[in-house]
Amino acid sequence: MQTVTLHLKVQPNAWAWLDQACREVNTAWNWANETSRRAIQTYDDGGRWLSAYDLDKLAVGAGDCFERIGSDVIQRVNAELVTRRIQFRKPVLRFRASGGRRRALGWIPFKAANLRLKGNRLRFMGKSIRLFEMDRFLEHRLMAGAKLGSGNFAQNALGEWFLNVPVQMPYPAGTTFDANGIPQLPVAPIECLGIDLGLKAVVTTSEGQVFEPNRSYRDNEAKLGNLQRAGHKKQAKRLHQKIRNQRQDYNHKLSSALVSQGQWIKIGDVSTAFLGAGTRAKSARDAAHGQLKAFLHYKGHRAGRSVDVVDEKYTTQTCSACLSRTGPKGSTGLRVRQWICSACGASHERDINAARLIKAAAPRCRRPIAGTRELR
Ligand SMILES: [Zn+2]
Repeated sequence: MQTVTLHLKVQPNAWAWLDQACREVNTAWNWANETSRRAIQTYDDGGRWLSAYDLDKLAVGAGDCFERIGSDVIQRVNAELVTRRIQFRKPVLRFRASGGRRRALGWIPFKAANLRLKGNRLRFMGKSIRLFEMDRFLEHRLMAGAKLGSGNFAQNALGEWFLNVPVQMPYPAGTTFDANGIPQLPVAPIECLGIDLGLKAVVTTSEGQVFEPNRSYRDNEAKLGNLQRAGHKKQAKRLHQKIRNQRQDYNHKLSSALVSQGQWIKIGDVSTAFLGAGTRAKSARDAAHGQLKAFLHYKGHRAGRSVDVVDEKYTTQTCSACLSRTGPKGSTGLRVRQWICSACGASHERDINAARLIKAAAPRCRRPIAGTRELR
């Protein structure tokens, strides 16, 4: 089995209910936090560190005091509090405020059994909840052998609610297992795939494929600037979120496509200095590259691929055919997109040449050439 965590947006008609339920969660959290603190700090001998089980026992019947949440949610709150308390080695954690400036972002943990499927909706503590991407939820939930884990509803800074839930799923068809029971996932059609990240093309592969960058930031840049200058904070925030969503969607599709192709995936490490100055546009680009790399890592891992980041130094200057450094050099050389190697006569398109060198950096794919400086 492998675990996939779904992060899906809840439709707005359930937000008010979740806001209310969250107040109850905060009350339960603050009670457990305070009870736990008192048990530790009241006595000089160091007191007693309550376990989640202790807190559950003390909270028996508390579910009846709440309108929306029940004992399952309270138990999940207790478990989370104890986990965090141990993690941060603190006898007392932050108070969860339900209002005011220091309001905690909404959070409602639950057990797998609390989330029921009713037709095209979810049922949670008697409340009907709809998701924007119900298909994605169903696709995972209804897969033979799939099992939901404990998850939560969580809110972002805009007050929107999301469902986060881990799903244990069987491995894809074609998976075999070795003597130790380690899954041997189906292999990709191409053994080694080099990936060059860039500006003009967000991705160029060693196979010569070129992917255009997602334009959501560029298309909305002027509008975003206008909103910010005019002081329309909320609208600007919303537009930012939209750009983020579009970029994420694009990166999901792109990373899935790349992972489906290559078994050994090598990504050129982009030096941000090389990508040039600029403020907002640059940070948007960096964020897009960073996210794409993160997606490639986790999707690659899930599919049994090897994903590595390699140093891409000299990849614009080195000939991928003979490894001589005959390519354009210096900052003026960056503008040169095509060149011919003076040593072997091979003609190169800059980004594809770079992707091939990045691919060659993979230990499995490196060709041993006597007398040449080995690429890292
Ligand atoms: Zn050459």
